[in-house]
Amino acid sequence: MLQPRTLYLVGAGPGPVDLLTLRAARLIAAAEVIVHDGLIGPDILGLARPEARLISVAKRRARHTLPQEEINALLVREALAGRMVVRLKGGDPLIFGRGGEEAEAARAAGLAVEIVPGISAANGAAAAAGIALTHREAASIVSFVAGQCKGLSEQDWSGLAGKGRTLVIYMGIATAPQIAEKLIADGLAPDMPIAIVENAARPEMRVLRGLLAGLPDLVAREAVKSPALIIIGEVAARDEAALSALAREAAA
Ligand code: SAH
Repeated sequence: MLQPRTLYLVGAGPGPVDLLTLRAARLIAAAEVIVHDGLIGPDILGLARPEARLISVAKRRARHTLPQEEINALLVREALAGRMVVRLKGGDPLIFGRGGEEAEAARAAGLAVEIVPGISAANGAAAAAGIALTHREAASIVSFVAGQCKGLSEQDWSGLAGKGRTLVIYMGIATAPQIAEKLIADGLAPDMPIAIVENAARPEMRVLRGLLAGLPDLVAREAVKSPALIIIGEVAARDEAALSALAREAAA
């Protein structure tokens, strides 16, 4: 099913193998070369053919193993050599995944690009923690932001959080104190509910709830580790047990 001279940019979802799309699973099973992130677990990589070459380009904050340009060059080189290359990324490849840069590099090298969406961490976390990101009574807007972007303090987030709005922050654990400070300085109520979802959708998931002003303390006290998302808004305080009971009924 794989076409030559094509780069497949594939989303692997938030972790569990059964949250892959069928298309992703088929492409993984057919690939000759799989270039993957650190967030991809052994269950998913286990779908690859035994002879497939698995190349990890795991990135950690402040400890990049391979610069992005080298990842782009690697993908292009392998695909131009005629190998069936899958670039496998956590969540969705186009949400804070640098999939856009890799697609551009591939197209510039004359390759075709096929993108397979994945369940982004925000969607995985919302479902697993029972947080309705746009509960009709609490929010009609949801925004995704990166908490680790360059010049966090200069980023304009005003209007993204507050009444009727949900803000989901990716990569925000290390900068949680600056995030709380920034949002409060922008006028957000210090008692706005927040939830942290660590290892969303995985067996070791933790959901921690609190208020915006207490976010830095909560992160420190609970020793929250990446990967984790911060969800800010009234939806974070809605009754989790009631929601998951509803979800179970619906599934039954
Ligand atoms: N492309 C990915 C995001 C990559 S950025 C996606 O669409 O999900 C990496 C960040 O995603 C992490 O720092 C964390 O904030 C978030 N993340 C990824 N997987 C997660 C998980 N299982 N639980 C909580 N957050 C997760």
